Amino acid sequence: MNARRLVLLLIYLCCGVLSIACAEPDSDNRNIEPTDATQVKVGTAREANLTFSAQRAFAMLEKQCEFGPRPPGSAAHRETQNYLFMELQKYTNSVALQPLEYTVDGKTLHLNNILAEFVPGGPSVSGKPRTGETLLLAAHWDTRPIADHDPNPENRDTPILGANDGASGVAVLLELARVFKAHPPPRRIVIVLFDGEDYGRTGDDMFIGSRYFARNLGKWKPDYGILLDMVGDKELTLPIEANSWNANREFTAAIWNRAAVLGLAPFQQRLGPAIMDDHVPLIKVGIPMVDIIDFDYPYWHTIEDTVDKCSPKSLEVVATLVISIVYDGL
Ligand SMILES: [Zn+2]
Repeated sequence: MNARRLVLLLIYLCCGVLSIACAEPDSDNRNIEPTDATQVKVGTAREANLTFSAQRAFAMLEKQCEFGPRPPGSAAHRETQNYLFMELQKYTNSVALQPLEYTVDGKTLHLNNILAEFVPGGPSVSGKPRTGETLLLAAHWDTRPIADHDPNPENRDTPILGANDGASGVAVLLELARVFKAHPPPRRIVIVLFDGEDYGRTGDDMFIGSRYFARNLGKWKPDYGILLDMVGDKELTLPIEANSWNANREFTAAIWNRAAVLGLAPFQQRLGPAIMDDHVPLIKVGIPMVDIIDFDYPYWHTIEDTVDKCSPKSLEVVATLVISIVYDGL
């Protein structure tokens, strides 16, 4: 163990979020006492919407891209991990790394999912969640090491910048973390930034962090979850993702219905393609998860997935929906 890993381990051990990463809450969520509402002023969707800044979210998208492409094993990947960890620590004391190793083509990758927890009334000292419902909000923070869909064959071994595919979902969640600190949500929220989503040439070596997370949940399970991926496209189109729909129709329909009620035009009331993404390993272990993803993105897995293809407005549209679900429920 080198010095850096030791420091990270110490940070990890000092964090109140140990309950997420390595302990199993020993009782069923439904049986846990409700939070004492008198102890905490819970925020509202209106307050949260007023606090959310599309410009700040976009600045966090830009900041990630300033590190350069962020594939596992690169210096930019390590720097980004530290940045994300420290950024989340501004908004909650419950931040932790979930480290994992993965060997592919004889090379061992050191990956980390990054977790942040927001509990009404503050972190639970006992390690047990104090609310009856947990909403998981997810995105992937790594970027693809190869631009294998680039129109120019000479670029296809080049790492992508991942402004949309990677940075956009993370940017929304970082800004939401700031909002959650200002206006505590009425339910337990766990943000998870998955590593190793976009690594391999085939699906066998992709979704590495989410598969590990799903395998290591133990008895604890979020009640439901939302994955944000490729949500920054200027030309945002969000049809219903078919794997989400096929696994949990009622839940998925409720989310798109909420988008319609809120008048969020990019959410289209039609079924789109089935996408393999980080939600699938979680669906497989029984968590209703929807993937909010714009797969109609011409720069997907090309070196042209850059900041100029994204817009603050798109991040805001998606955040508006998430805020509604976080504060008002479904
Ligand atoms: Zn990708």
